[in-house]
This record gives sequence, structure tokens and C-alpha cells, in this order.
Amino acid sequence: MNTTRIDLLTKIPLLKSILKSRFFQPVLMLGTLFFFVFAILTGFFGTPAGSKNFSIIYIWIVWWAVLIIVLVPFFGRLWCTVCPIPGPGEWLQRRGIIQKRYPKLMTLRRRWPRQLKNIWLQNVAFLGMALFSAIILTRPSVTAWVLFAFLILGVVLSAIYDNRIFCRYVCPVGGFIGLYSLTATVELRVKDAQICKDHSTKDCVIGTENSYGCPWMVFPGNLERNAYCGLCTECLKTCPRDNIALNLRPFGSDLLVAKGRSLDEAYKAFIMLACALMYSVVLLGPWGWLKGWANMNSLGQWAIYAVGFLTINLLIVPGLFWLTAQAARLLARLDISPRQAFVDYAYTLVPMGLMGWIAFSFSFVFVNGSYALPVLSDPFGWGWNLLGTKDFPWTPFLPQVAAALQLITLLIGLGFSIAIAYRIGRQHAGSDALAWRGALPITAFLTGVTLLFTKLYLG
Ligand code: SF4
Ligand code: SF4
Repeated sequence: MNTTRIDLLTKIPLLKSILKSRFFQPVLMLGTLFFFVFAILTGFFGTPAGSKNFSIIYIWIVWWAVLIIVLVPFFGRLWCTVCPIPGPGEWLQRRGIIQKRYPKLMTLRRRWPRQLKNIWLQNVAFLGMALFSAIILTRPSVTAWVLFAFLILGVVLSAIYDNRIFCRYVCPVGGFIGLYSLTATVELRVKDAQICKDHSTKDCVIGTENSYGCPWMVFPGNLERNAYCGLCTECLKTCPRDNIALNLRPFGSDLLVAKGRSLDEAYKAFIMLACALMYSVVLLGPWGWLKGWANMNSLGQWAIYAVGFLTINLLIVPGLFWLTAQAARLLARLDISPRQAFVDYAYTLVPMGLMGWIAFSFSFVFVNGSYALPVLSDPFGWGWNLLGTKDFPWTPFLPQVAAALQLITLLIGLGFSIAIAYRIGRQHAGSDALAWRGALPITAFLTGVTLLFTKLYLG
């Protein structure tokens, strides 16, 4: 028996009944789809002033904050359970929303290229969005185009390929949710892997008369990490052996699972960390000229910014970390290749990066969160006053508390990442002492990152 796990489905039978219902996911997705389409409409037809438009405030402040501060660290891919983007494509594929009506999915049945069965495309998509983020985050019509494009791409990919290709291999948001959900305190796993081995029909993979095979194309019996399980709960409905558990577990558990570590995920960790730093510099820093460059005040200046941005993300941060990981490898006398040291130790950046994003999010949630009230009454900025909150003034909320929370968050991230550095080192090192020696250069790197964040947030 695994004493570090508590199966919520055994403890809370009502939760199990809800998750097993075929209504559970589609009803939630229809709810979020309503808000998603509403955000697109307000973006296209509402005021161009970002602070007065529902799309900007509710997508980039409210949704983002809930996602990164609550959903990802505690519930992993729970957002993917309710995300509306794959909904229309999936329902077209299935020719139904709730019940399974046809044995086969309706698609062109093309095969997704083997070379793209990783998260490199998601890394590229995230960087592409990040390059234009100063514009996307402030201009409602641009946000609307991006959301609309996601929806269309989801439908197109669902028409060509079986299952959730968009979620698994393309979605720029799904890429980092997957990586950071390695830390989450919830996991979906099988109760007993041997039962899966002995179950010859593997219903969770191929589906049954009333339910589908895993839309995320994973085999639950092999799940050891959260990265690619979209928590869709389909296998819970499918499994005839009642072998699926939804466990509460310690924070960061999957970071110690060696199987599945890869260069594409390592780069995701670098990109996310570098972007958290860059966003903090550009959006929160005192350098107005840099904000102007990122904002495309002129194409030439933006091009310089883009080259710098990509160089920091793809060369400077990974390059510095390569040197750090090699120093760790030598100090700990690890008998692994330089590349493996680089990839394995890159997972130490996951808690730090996640906490960096949370700290970054605190800065604008506390300062600009009050915009959510007037926008609720006047989502298009047309002068409506639906709930009587239209004239609620912009009110920064407890800035000293925000600063303290940022510092605490960063220190938690630092401490956690150092502990992970030791434990990853211990997977290869001959002794505790050597593993700690290996953790020294990583600690120096992480401390440098923490100081940078702290300087940016607290001055
Ligand atoms: S259907 Fe259930 S028991 Fe069978 S392989 Fe899938 S998870 Fe395991
Ligand atoms: S493993 Fe189960 S919950 Fe996870 S994506 Fe596949 S079917 Fe959904």
C-alpha cells in the first residue's frame, strides 16, 4: 500500500459518481465555451481599451491567475478537463456531446507525424505567443483573434486526426500546464498495474460500446507522471475493473520520476523560467523604452527585441544551465552523460519557474484585479451597468501583502528546487554527500534567479 497517496474516489463516493457521469465533462465544457465565445465577442466588438474589456480582464487576469495560482499547483491538468477549446472539434469527431453514439470517430484518420510526438511544437507555439504578448495582453481584438484561431485550429486538427491532437501536441498553454502539473498535489493513476497487465482487452485504450479510448492517447496502466493525462475522466467511465484512482499526493512527486524526462520538456522548463523573468522585466520593470519595443512601436525595434528574447530563451538560459549542470555532474561524480545531467537537472527549474510565475501573477492580480468588477457590469465597455458595479474605481489591493507573498512564494520555490536538485542527484550519485555537492552549482543558479525575481518585484 502506498502511504503517500489517498484515493479521493474511495474516500468520497459522491465525487466518483459525479466523475463517472457522462455529463460531467461536457456540461463543464459547455459552460466554459459560453464564456470563451463571450470573450471573443467582447474582444472583437467591445471597447479597444484593454482595462475596460471583458476579454482582457477575464482571460489575462482572472483566468490566468486562477490557472497558475490555484489549478496547476494543486490540481494539475484540471483546466484541461473543462477547457472549451477542443470541445467543438471533439464533439464533431464523435458526432455527439454526451453519449457515445457511433463506434468510430469521424476524421480523415491521418497519422500525426512521429517527429512531432513531443512538445517541441508547443514550445515553439508558446514562444511565438510570448513574442507578441505585449500586444496580445493589452489589445482586445488581438486577444479575440488568438482565441478564435485556437478554436478553429482545434476543429481542423480534430477533423484530420483522431483524438485530441491539439491538446496533446499543439496547444501552447497545454505544454506548460503539462510540465508544471508534475508538481501537482493530485494525480490520476491505476490502483494496480498488474490488473492492467492482465486485462487483455485494454478497454481504456480502445473504448467500449458506451465510452471512448483515452482521447489523450495514453495508456493509464503506464501512467507515472501527470504530464500527458488530460484528466478527462474517460478511463474512469471505461475501466470495467474499477482500477482507476484519483490520488492526493505530496507536491512535486513526478519530478523524481526518471522515466519520461526529455530534452523537449527540459526546454519547456527553460522557456517558462526565462519568459517569467522577461515578462517581469518588460511588463513590470521601469524601462518604458523596452515596453515600447515589445509593443511594436516600430517594426525594427520589435525585431531587435524578438532576437534578444529568443536568444535569452533558447541560448543564454539553457547555455548557463548547461555549464551549471556539468559542474554538478563533476562535483557529484555522476556516471551519466553530459546531456543526461543537463536534462535531469533541468527539472529542478520546474518548482522555481512555477513559483516565479505565481509571484509575477500576484503583482498584477493585487494591482489590477479590481478591474474585474466594473467589467462584469459593462463587458463590452459600451456603458452598460448590468450589476451596478460599472463605476467601481480602480483600487490596488494591499500592495505590501502582495510584496510579502511574492517573496514567500519565491523562497518556497527556491527551497523546493534545491531539495529536488539533491534528490535528482541522489538518483545517480554514490552517496548523500556527493548528491549535496552536486546540488551546490544548481543552488547557486537558482539563488541567482531568485535574486533577479526579487529585485524586479521588490526593487
Ligand atoms: S481498462 Fe482498466 S484494468 Fe483495463 S487496462 Fe485500462 S485501466 Fe487497466
Ligand atoms: S488517462 Fe484517463 S483521464 Fe487521463 S487523458 Fe486518458 S482517459 Fe483521460
